[in-house]
Amino acid sequence: MSSSHRTAVTVIGLGPMGRALAAAFLAAGTGTTVWNRTPGKDRELVAAGAVAAPTAEEAVAASPLTVVCLVNYDATDSVLRQEAVTAALKGRTVVNLSADTPDRARDTGRWAGEHGIGYLDGAIMTPTTSIGTPAGVFLYSGPEALHAEHRAVLDTLGGAHTHLGEEIGRAAAYDIALLDIFWTSVTGYAHAVALAGAEGVSPTDLAPYAQGIGAILPPLFEEFAEDIERGSFSGEGNPLTSALSTMAHVVHASEAHGIDAGVMRAAEGLVRRTVALGHGAEGFTRVAEVLGRR
Ligand code: NDP
Repeated sequence: MSSSHRTAVTVIGLGPMGRALAAAFLAAGTGTTVWNRTPGKDRELVAAGAVAAPTAEEAVAASPLTVVCLVNYDATDSVLRQEAVTAALKGRTVVNLSADTPDRARDTGRWAGEHGIGYLDGAIMTPTTSIGTPAGVFLYSGPEALHAEHRAVLDTLGGAHTHLGEEIGRAAAYDIALLDIFWTSVTGYAHAVALAGAEGVSPTDLAPYAQGIGAILPPLFEEFAEDIERGSFSGEGNPLTSALSTMAHVVHASEAHGIDAGVMRAAEGLVRRTVALGHGAEGFTRVAEVLGRR
């Protein structure tokens, strides 16, 4: 660390995740400077040994590495692209763990390159409670040499750390795909609870069976991946025509109770379109192939 650096890492953004990151750095003995747009969120961190910077410019100047964890890249831009902050970052490295799209990651990578700032993009795939524990999952993308230089500090966050390669948008690409699975799944769960409730089934009574459905998914992800990559789209045991019929039951039962069936209608629409293209005897994996046609 150069003598002009007072700490090993700066954390910009002290929402629930930024606070968890800073706390994990501190718990691992990594000297940490913190800054947040709205003051007052650093109290516990300062009590745990963090240095509170009065401005974003002073925060990024305090460490060779700045970890950014804000709501999205509009927020990231509004902090990092202030002239004084950009100037203070020159020759230093930013690791952006805020979530957004791959295009925004690539745009930030270009901006950083134009201003002499080292840039790694990243994504956190686990909740705040996992940070600083073996359960944390961190994905990174960007220049290999820069990643190697900062890996030791990033590893003090604990958990599984994967560098996905030099393409700067790659971590965000995994992030959006995994968020797609997560949010559509929990939306399905929310709808199921409403539908079950209309039939007098409580969330607690449903829970063990919901877990059973959840447990079917992990091996399916492996099987589906093989099926799609082989291009076989096997409908063995569950052709799309049969899936369509069970999806229609959910739509009809929901609407009979006056419950919005929009999510299932959208899913049913995709399957109907795939069947109309002549794939009714094939499996659900064909829907992925049809959706991916451009
Ligand atoms: P939020 O996504 O709500 O982000 C809060 C942070 O963003 C605060 O520091 C807030 O500052 C800042 N912020 C919002 N708008 C602006 C702005 N215009 N200018 C400057 N700062 C702004 O909370 P989290 O901390 O939970 O999430 C941070 C990131 O981590 C997100 O991208 C999220 O997707 C990701 N993440 C979060 C997980 C979680 O479990 N919480 C899990 C995995 C990823 P202020 O206090 O001033 O409002």
